[in-house]
Order: sequence, then C-alpha cells, then structure tokens
Amino acid sequence: MRGMDAPQHASPPSPPGEDRFSSLALVNTELNLPSGPYDGLTDPAATDDWLARKGLVDHGTRTDARQTARLRDLRTALRGLFEARVAGARPTRESLDRVNEALAAAPGTRALGWAADGPCPVVRPAPGDPVDAALTRLAEDGADLLTGPEARKIATCAAPGCTRMFLRSHAARRWCSDRCGNRVRATRHYSGRKADAPS
Ligand SMILES: [Zn+2]
Repeated sequence: MRGMDAPQHASPPSPPGEDRFSSLALVNTELNLPSGPYDGLTDPAATDDWLARKGLVDHGTRTDARQTARLRDLRTALRGLFEARVAGARPTRESLDRVNEALAAAPGTRALGWAADGPCPVVRPAPGDPVDAALTRLAEDGADLLTGPEARKIATCAAPGCTRMFLRSHAARRWCSDRCGNRVRATRHYSGRKADAPS
C-alpha cells in the first residue's frame, strides 16, 4: 500500500487518530510541508484517489468538480468545528450548517448484521451516487468524533507552521509527529534557548 501513497511521500507519518477517524484524515489533506503548502484534493482525480485509499468509495469511482468542491468545503467546515472544540469556543454558523447539510445529503441505512462472533451494526450506504454517500459518511465520522469520548483528545500540532490535527495519545503530547517534535527541539537548540523543556 505504501508505494501507492506517492503524493504523501514527503509528508510525515499519519498523525494519531487518522487511522480511526476519516474526518481527521480529511482535515489533514491540507498541510504545510518544508517544500510549501500541500493540498491532497486539488482536482477530481486526486479526490478519487484519496476517497478510494480511505475505503470510502470503490476504486474506479469518478468524482466530478462539484463534488470535489463540496468535499473541500466539508474539510474547511470540519476543521472549523474541530478547532472550535479545541478552543472551547462556538464554531461559525456556516461550518455547522455545512456539516449538517452533508449529514442530511445521503445518509445510509442502519442494519443489523450477524458476524461469526455475533450481532454487529452495519450501515448500508445510501443508494445513488457513491461520492455523495462518502461525503455523508465523512460528516458522520466527524460528528461521532466531536460527540464521542475522544473529542477531548483533539489537538492541533504545536510546531510552528504545522496545521495538522491529531488525537493526543497522552495528555502532554503536543506534536503531530516525531518529525515536528524534533524540528522544534532542533530550533530551540540552535537558537540557544533552553532545550530541556519536556517534550
Ligand atoms: Zn506537526
């Protein structure tokens, strides 16, 4: 799989939480790299690739320009809600409305499944356009994160210039990745300031 992640090769490893919350991964498709700003959803082809890699659509699904624009808008709105949660503030009305529109657009149907080890919840995607259904799933994922027990762990990387968001694996964690932590320590070291602050 890693070899397929060509656009990500220059970015640090995925921050904690992205593996479980696709909404967090969506927010982090826009980031600053040493080479400059990076956007993983620049056009429909990049969007197809990202959605398929996240398992939100089948490979070969085609996204149109309007859906790409809606996904980017949802990304902005989710970041607004996550940052508001971090700050203990109210998000903008627009961010909340945007996420609620996505929630209502193509909701799946709850069903009861029965796996080898017993009953399990199943969500059947809404019939119709698979990309619309994927956008709704991303909004649901964000709503689940914000209203679930892990909401208090949402954090923005404290490294200067880094905007990635993650879930704190422990209370003192401040960086999205070791790379950011090391970069900040190196900067402190070279600027002659005390380098003995806790990481
Ligand atoms: Zn970072």
